[in-house]
Amino acid sequence: MKIRDLFEEKTVFSFEVFPPKKTSSVDVIYKTLDELKDLKPDFISVTFGAGGSSNNQFACDVASKIKENGITPMIHLPSINYTKEEISVTLDEIKRRGIENILALRGDKSPDIEPKNDFPHASDLITYIKAHGDFDIAGACYPECHPDADTIIDDIMNLKKKVDAGATHLISQLFFDNDSFYDFREKTVLAGIDVPIEAGIMPVVNKSQIERMVTTCGASLPRKFVRIMQKYENNPEALRDAGIAYAINQIVDLIASGVDGIHLYTMNNAYVARKISEAVSGIINA
Ligand code: FAD
Repeated sequence: MKIRDLFEEKTVFSFEVFPPKKTSSVDVIYKTLDELKDLKPDFISVTFGAGGSSNNQFACDVASKIKENGITPMIHLPSINYTKEEISVTLDEIKRRGIENILALRGDKSPDIEPKNDFPHASDLITYIKAHGDFDIAGACYPECHPDADTIIDDIMNLKKKVDAGATHLISQLFFDNDSFYDFREKTVLAGIDVPIEAGIMPVVNKSQIERMVTTCGASLPRKFVRIMQKYENNPEALRDAGIAYAINQIVDLIASGVDGIHLYTMNNAYVARKISEAVSGIINA
């Protein structure tokens, strides 16, 4: 199943998971996938390491397991630290496993790895994948601007290059302020970007996530979000419930505003994904 076709039928609701570390067993994520399967998402995407210590064999195994479970998988593919030959081997493996959907990414630059020069931008990877097989290709987008871009206008003009290269839909970076997404969406329309854009939603349900959000994520934190996090940061259950409620609120507003799809960063937490799915299932395609 090619994911691009889904957008013609409905508001897409998808999940993202990450593969286990090299040292851990795949059994834990397989159990999570069994639980996520029951929630019937339109697809599940699997993150993929940009190089170094990551275990990308597990990413392919997890994508295959999603397919075995009867759900459409999408595999992420960051390219900055790989040569054309290495990406070609990975594409052959993806094809061999019958996986049709790829999120084509540049990947983050790492101070410890000298980047290879074959794919300076995701658009270069998209062109390469298109020549390599019949894949449906998505790209990433940044409602609050990618940190390497000087302005949001530059970033959106670069995003247009990704779409012109062949990305059939886009998945957004997480955000907590829906207005930033609506402003971005308007700018993409003005730039002539006419492919569906899924909104990336991250439920913040524990303290370590809050710390990461504040220090590294770059998303603006609305006052009501900060108030909730401050109030409940030392009460794990209340924080979890408040984080779920905040995400549900965001999703309801996005659906009411005609969003093309919701991509839930599950952080491999099936409980949280279930609570959110149950809360929005009646309205997502009402
Ligand atoms: P690009 O589209 O190449 O953009 C990067 C920068 O280059 C931007 O500033 C852009 O404006 C500029 N640019 C783009 N094209 C051009 C051009 N043709 N000419 C000049 N400038 C250009 N990382 C992982 O390692 N693994 C993952 O699994 C993963 N999953 C992700 C999933 C989502 C939904 C998102 C939003 C991000 C994910 N990332 C992942 C992170 C991503 O790899 C980083 O954000 C990375 O820094 C940028 O990747 P990109 O594909 O958006 O890059």
